[in-house]
Amino acid sequence: MGFDLTSLLLAAAVSGACLSGLMIVAWLTAAGERFMITWALGALVVVGHVIAYWAHSASPSLWAGMTAIVLLPAGLMVLLASTYQLCKIPMPTRALATILAAYIFMALPLAAAGYDGVALILQNALATAFLTGSAVLFWRSRRESHGHMASLAFLYVLCGVSFGLCGVVIFYEGQWSIGYPPDNWAERLNVVVAVACTTAGGALMLTINQAMLARRHRVESLTDPLTGLLNRRALFSLYDDRLFGEHAAAVMFDIDHFKRVNDTYGHAAGDEVLRRFASALSRYSRPGDDPVRLGGEEFTLIMTRVTREQARAVVGGIAAAFAAESVITPNGEIRCTVSAGIGFGGHPATTLDEMLTRADRALYTAKKAGRNCIEADDLQLAS
Ligand code: GH3
Ligand code: MG
Ligand code: MG
Repeated sequence: MGFDLTSLLLAAAVSGACLSGLMIVAWLTAAGERFMITWALGALVVVGHVIAYWAHSASPSLWAGMTAIVLLPAGLMVLLASTYQLCKIPMPTRALATILAAYIFMALPLAAAGYDGVALILQNALATAFLTGSAVLFWRSRRESHGHMASLAFLYVLCGVSFGLCGVVIFYEGQWSIGYPPDNWAERLNVVVAVACTTAGGALMLTINQAMLARRHRVESLTDPLTGLLNRRALFSLYDDRLFGEHAAAVMFDIDHFKRVNDTYGHAAGDEVLRRFASALSRYSRPGDDPVRLGGEEFTLIMTRVTREQARAVVGGIAAAFAAESVITPNGEIRCTVSAGIGFGGHPATTLDEMLTRADRALYTAKKAGRNCIEADDLQLAS
């Protein structure tokens, strides 16, 4: 191959340091995930290895060789840690630290005793293991960002194989004692592959971070922060263009005399009442129903494949569960009730707006009837 190893190592160090810096800047400015800063740290340790390796090849010395031997697996282990963070898988920290420590306790005495070739075989074997470990984690997590994760798995395997080849060549040539960094086709290929994989891998990680941020913002924009329920925007983005037949229902809930709760017990206690209602709504609705906080103390529940009797029973269960709640405050105990109006879909099918209007009408009737009761469309139902 027509490249000299020294230039390749310099290119690797510069590229790794630049990428690491880029990742730190991206992490600082875009509120990135923790895996980014861990990745940047791992990349810097690997750059440290490359510099030590480069110094060792310029002027062979035991110290430079031993530093390089320690820093490569250490850096790759930090990169593996960033993969665990990205994939949100708990890291077996103790097991990995034990493996690294065992390696250092074997490789350093071997290098000091003149068997640097053997130490390098161990170093490359461990590098392959750590990189393959990352690849397996990416592959297992490919359900999220499928293309990106699969590409990362491929790059890490490729890089792992290139390290493995370096070890195989030393082993095959029986270079147990070398005294300087080996310079052969596998070493040069390894540096080229490592630079390419690190660059592409870093770019992919930045893209994944952007995708994660976009997903988080979307979830936040559709979630009510106080109760964790879907919000009005989510309701309309889920159902706006749907039509509802007779076996669908929208239920409007409005907590009774809620203003009085705020005025008497304070806003924080009012918030706790809202959370309790949201919890009852989630617990007593059926799987597949969608509970939504419309705003203030108004909630809705969208039910599909439901009969009038089933809807009435579910709403009754929610109202009873909420009435049984008690919130203890320094100013005394709060007990609340809720009024509900049920609007059904129709034949021909109706829009969400129409179903909500029917539910609203029924809710108005329930409030006028004295609160703490359930009304359905035009159909009177006892609480
Ligand atoms: P009704 O029985 O007729 O429904 O009377 P109400 O007092 O419940 O109705 P009203 O619409 O007069 O009061 C709603 C109150 O809800 C007024 C507002 O201050 C309060 N509110 C709206 N959003 C929040 C919130 O996020 N937290 C708290 N604690 N209060 C809120
Ligand atoms: Mg209201
Ligand atoms: Mg109210």
